[in-house]
Amino acid sequence: MTQSVTRKHLFDLPEGVIYLDGNSLGSLPAAVPGHVAGMVADQWGQMLIKGWNDAGWFAQPGRVGDKIAGLIGAPAGSVMAGDTLSIKVYQALAAALRMNPDRRVVLSDSGNFPTDLYMAQGLLDLIGQGHSLRVVEPEAVAEAIDEEVAAVLLTQVDYRTGRRHDMTALTGAAHDAGAVMIWDLAHSAGAFEIDLAGSGCAFAVGCTYKYLNGGPGAPAFIYVRPDLADTAQPALQGWMGHNAPFAFDMDYQPAGGIARMRVGTPPVIQMSALEQALSVWDGVSLADVRAASVALMEQFIAEVEARCPQLTLASPRDPEARGSHVSFRFAEGYAAMQALIDRGVIGDFRAPDIMRFGFTPLYLDDGDITGAVDILADILATEAWRDPKYQVRGAVT
Ligand SMILES: *Cc1c(COP(=O)(O)O)cnc(C)c1O
Repeated sequence: MTQSVTRKHLFDLPEGVIYLDGNSLGSLPAAVPGHVAGMVADQWGQMLIKGWNDAGWFAQPGRVGDKIAGLIGAPAGSVMAGDTLSIKVYQALAAALRMNPDRRVVLSDSGNFPTDLYMAQGLLDLIGQGHSLRVVEPEAVAEAIDEEVAAVLLTQVDYRTGRRHDMTALTGAAHDAGAVMIWDLAHSAGAFEIDLAGSGCAFAVGCTYKYLNGGPGAPAFIYVRPDLADTAQPALQGWMGHNAPFAFDMDYQPAGGIARMRVGTPPVIQMSALEQALSVWDGVSLADVRAASVALMEQFIAEVEARCPQLTLASPRDPEARGSHVSFRFAEGYAAMQALIDRGVIGDFRAPDIMRFGFTPLYLDDGDITGAVDILADILATEAWRDPKYQVRGAVT
């Protein structure tokens, strides 16, 4: 099964590295460096400002959005690429609150990634109309959706544990209570099949540097359900989302459709890297990716539990309740992860004690899993993590 989706030849992976962090920063598609170098030389270098029309830079965020749409179950014309995920969360939530002006509660959960909560807090403070952010345990979300809730803002897959929300059921519950549903797909897009249109949610957002391999700082994306796209109010009224950006009107008029979710000048070089990176998905079935990911995760959990009794599974045991990463708790998890990275097995650590491993079947196979667990078991058995050099913390963990 794994064999059918693995396409390691499409990626530039360092020799001797087993990369289990593609859920945090996807690896480099081999065609990207040449494409970006060519784009910089031929388009920026030779076309100069003509590139906006002649190389299609202006249309690129929508073109890239359409490619992403195909990977998340959304129709063409409903997704726009640009900015960062934090910005897109703000935009989606601001638009959702405008759709539900009589309600004052935003519901999220304690498994959400902090920036989503921070952006919501900042927006609610700025509005200054007594809105509050209600944060409940992930398991308590369904029962916390009531008639006070204006918008439900959830990340489908928990960045720590990999726990996955039921998108269809929770969207239905939000709609039954008259709330606007926003999904953050940061750990979903490119990890498994998503039926975004079928879920009926109003907004979705996500980033492209995780499973979509767009590179560090790659643009984010926003989806607006097509029937809302001409009325959703983009709080960030940048000129590129104006109905006629080059008329240079004094007053803002939103563009029709998803184009209103553009803000300012797109990062064209980064957008080109992403556009090229997305071509590794041509002809790939996300159902096959998911099946391969589940097989790799099940193998990993079985081998770790058999050979590393020091670690405790922190992720749901049922693969259906999980995204595409697996976490284990270990009190010395930070040092153990540093020791692991030192020996070429790259995962990451999330405070206070989570060792996190991502599974990306396009460039991982079952031999990688066994190789990684061999090294992990050795580090734990020899307590190699006790070396003081593994206690030093970098700015990014
Ligand atoms: C990775 C991630 C982010 C990161 O936001 P940026 O603006 O891209 O830094 C935000 N939210 C979630 C849920 C994430 O997993």
